[in-house]
Amino acid sequence: MISFTHDVSAQRVVFAAGALARVDEEAERLGLSRVLVVATPGSGARLGEKVVEILAARSVGLHAGAVIHVPKVVAEAGLAAARAANADGLVAAGGGSAIGLAKAIARETGLPIIAIPTTYSGSEATSIFGITDGARKVTGRDAKVMPRTIIYDPELTLGLPASVSAASGMNAIAHCVESFWADGRTPVTLALASEAMRRFAKSLPAVVANGADRDARGECLVAGWLSGTVLSVSNGLQHKLAHVLGGLGLPHAEAHAIILPHVTRFNLAAAPEAKARLAEALGSDDPAAAIANMLKQFPIPQRLRDIGFDAGKMDFVAGEIAAQSIKSPRPVAVADVREVLAGAN
Ligand code: NAD
Repeated sequence: MISFTHDVSAQRVVFAAGALARVDEEAERLGLSRVLVVATPGSGARLGEKVVEILAARSVGLHAGAVIHVPKVVAEAGLAAARAANADGLVAAGGGSAIGLAKAIARETGLPIIAIPTTYSGSEATSIFGITDGARKVTGRDAKVMPRTIIYDPELTLGLPASVSAASGMNAIAHCVESFWADGRTPVTLALASEAMRRFAKSLPAVVANGADRDARGECLVAGWLSGTVLSVSNGLQHKLAHVLGGLGLPHAEAHAIILPHVTRFNLAAAPEAKARLAEALGSDDPAAAIANMLKQFPIPQRLRDIGFDAGKMDFVAGEIAAQSIKSPRPVAVADVREVLAGAN
């Protein structure tokens, strides 16, 4: 008999071409009058400056210090900036790195976040935070870090490089694929993940081929949102393996993308319902091959060794994963992890 628990988070989503212009009214709606804008340096900072300009008197400045995986010193500097500015709210403009820094600040201060995502990795729709201390990445959940409002503006993604589009899109696809076999899946997560997969399958190759394709950009941004909403149940082999590889210094989205076809093949052998859903969404009887084909078309690294994986660490990684006693959709032994890693290397 079917049985599940489903939490629904209160979150407002504004989606439109040009929606960036609405950031001031959304901040006002939350009662904010001293907003700190958080971004990555470079092109992220330029977007951050634009947000500061729109917020005008409601902004207390830009902190363009976000770094992937939120190193502890970066989180501390962000927190200090928010305190020094006496901020009463945060706008995170950019990808998962900018949103990750805003979450780290919100976790300590409880400040509300408005997220303006410009990649597809989905962090804006989760209450999951992560901070890196040396080689250790600590992740957890805290309702305080869930952005109150998301503003999606596909226009902001037109300049997203093909490599970041592909890597963050594959990261999002990994959230969806794993949610199909996750213990915590519900009728809602299954439906949202199917919808996200359908949109990504059609539109991710299109944006990688032509970043100026506005319709495909919009479709991928919708798919990225939906993928974030199912991430909270996606904590099996795919995400645990990506986490351990991240601890070894491998880039997050690229590591997800490379291992995904191999983890998918391994797990779908024991998950017929997940296989049927994925087959339908991807329009292929062999979903693992369809995902491998997508990866092959994309201008991102294809093998773990290309992103710095040291094959001498295989036993270490296999041991770490086997120790986590993953059961769903099938038990994972040391030899299984070695096989997945060898296939991906
Ligand atoms: P990112 O934020 O690291 O961005 C990658 C690069 O693309 C950066 O240099 C950034 O400046 C640039 N960029 C971003 N948007 C751009 C745009 N529109 N135009 C031009 N350049 C742009 O990429 P990401 O993959 O979104 O984020 C990865 C991080 O997010 C990792 O730390 C990962 O752990 C985290 N993450 C967290 C969650 C969660 O729920 N907490 C979910 C997914 C990912």
